[in-house]
Amino acid sequence: MNQGLFPVQVDPLKCIEQDAEFSGSIAVSKLGRLQDFLQGDDGEAQVEIQFGHDDMGIPLLRGQCQAKVHMTCQRCMNPVEVDVQTRFELGIVFSDEKAKHLPKQYEPVIVENDSLELLPVIEDEMILSLPMFAYHDHCDDNTLKAKEEPLPVETEAPSNPFSVLEQLKKQ
Ligand SMILES: [Zn+2]
Repeated sequence: MNQGLFPVQVDPLKCIEQDAEFSGSIAVSKLGRLQDFLQGDDGEAQVEIQFGHDDMGIPLLRGQCQAKVHMTCQRCMNPVEVDVQTRFELGIVFSDEKAKHLPKQYEPVIVENDSLELLPVIEDEMILSLPMFAYHDHCDDNTLKAKEEPLPVETEAPSNPFSVLEQLKKQ
């Protein structure tokens, strides 16, 4: 199994033939469409995929993906950490027409030439697994507190002209 950075593109025919497996990490900053749903682009996804066939000989791309990302909390609008975990099993087809005949349990990956871009496939799966809305369990941040209770005002001793005089007398 190849470790380290996840491959950007592979030769699908070769991968299917060899039951190739890949694992590695993908920086969230490289997934532009996913970022539209996030607050910030920090973090990285740990991804594992396997090429192979099912019992009927249908070429498959199986995989799983795990990442911690930040979405916007819909209560306090601050970032909230969301654990993305997804497993997928996709049927590899070589035309739109073939995709229509794929058994219903498989979402198709349509491969149009001899290279398969992996990042968009992973990105789609991550987007599908995001919650529609994200919330903190408890929005205990300062933004909410500031709205409820006034911030303590820095109390400075009022300047007293007599205390200034006393200071002068002492000298
Ligand atoms: Zn919140």
